[in-house]
Amino acid sequence: MKCSNCGHEIAEIKSRYTINRHGYQLALEGVPAFGCPSCGARYFKEEEVDAIQKMLEHLDKDFRKVLAIAG
Ligand SMILES: [Zn+2]
Repeated sequence: MKCSNCGHEIAEIKSRYTINRHGYQLALEGVPAFGCPSCGARYFKEEEVDAIQKMLEHLDKDFRKVLAIAG
């Protein structure tokens, strides 16, 4: 797999994935991804992004409940 930004060969890495949502920020450490050692571009795997999206859907539901109680 090559970097679509600079064409350099990319390597498998563990990366930090940060999410900014309405009202909260979440940082996940050690998410499997690909990184370009040349330009620093990050490519997250589709399966990881899907899993994170699913997790966020649940989190959003619960977070709205928390806001309703707090609110
Ligand atoms: Zn690159």
